[in-house]
Amino acid sequence: MLTRYFLIRTAVLLFIFSPPSGSAQEVIDTDTHRLEQVADGVYFAIGNGALYTMSNALIIERDEDVVVVDSHITPAAGRALVDSIRVVTDKPVTTVINSHFHYDHANGIPAFGDDVEIIGHEVTYQKLTGDPANEHTYLSSLTRFDNTVNRLQEELTAATSAEERRDLQSQLDFWRAHVEAQDEIEFLPPTMTLRETLTLHRGGREIQLHYFGRAHTGGDLAIYLPEDRIVFTGDMVLGGISYMGDGYVSEWADTLQGLKRLDFDLVLPGHGPGFRDRARIDNVQAYYTDLTEEVRRLKDLGYSAEEAAARADLRQHDALGVSQLGANLEAVQRMYDLIDGRIE
Ligand SMILES: [Zn+2]
Repeated sequence: MLTRYFLIRTAVLLFIFSPPSGSAQEVIDTDTHRLEQVADGVYFAIGNGALYTMSNALIIERDEDVVVVDSHITPAAGRALVDSIRVVTDKPVTTVINSHFHYDHANGIPAFGDDVEIIGHEVTYQKLTGDPANEHTYLSSLTRFDNTVNRLQEELTAATSAEERRDLQSQLDFWRAHVEAQDEIEFLPPTMTLRETLTLHRGGREIQLHYFGRAHTGGDLAIYLPEDRIVFTGDMVLGGISYMGDGYVSEWADTLQGLKRLDFDLVLPGHGPGFRDRARIDNVQAYYTDLTEEVRRLKDLGYSAEEAAARADLRQHDALGVSQLGANLEAVQRMYDLIDGRIE
């Protein structure tokens, strides 16, 4: 009874005191971003659709300067982020942290100038000094954007009403601008790297960078603000299942176990809205564990990666929107390659 009373009372209190939009204390709308103030001087930056940003960023103000986590998908999107930062502070951006090497989080860095310190995991450094222009995830994104432009062009040609044409034309302009923005791409590697942890103490604020193991990539960082109990997770934790095409699915749940040892109330993911419900992390952990077991089982039965991807039964994860048989083929193929030692 006591427990029940407590739960009801807590629910009522949460309802009264939690802000309406989940993570924001105050929201500042700029030309290109929605900036959610999640703590004093800390803003979660989400593109408002004016141009293609793809990933979220975090703006952390210190006494004399600003630290940014992730920089969006192109230098143009990075410049839009700089302009949005100018709406909330005049302080210079001295440091950009890469949550991981993926193009949609790292390719905006040139917008921050030549003098900026870029901090990332050693694996991020290896990836961005390797052959980033030929990384399969980057190449498939280019194909996807080209396909989108071609499809919209065809739809525009076939459109019958003025309203439809207007709508398609504006979508086409949006995606063409993004494709053109690729001409400026320049892959800038971290200027400072870490393997396990790094803490920035400057400017009245502690910023912790943690590596807990491989997950979405070989070098995912969690950026943790202990005083504010906030963690920015990049793509190692999203609201649902993350892209697994560069992932280490069999290690992912263990890595997230490390993340969960941090004392946070608010998770800010690399895509999608922030959330406070830690059960979402449990849900994706269970999915990666079950996917690992299911793929191993099917592989042991002699199925090819294609067959296993079609047959994998993960329908117990309906909380993550899994309602049908099957798993992502790219993920399963990669899991086969890792099991067979074709990749490390
Ligand atoms: Zn990613």
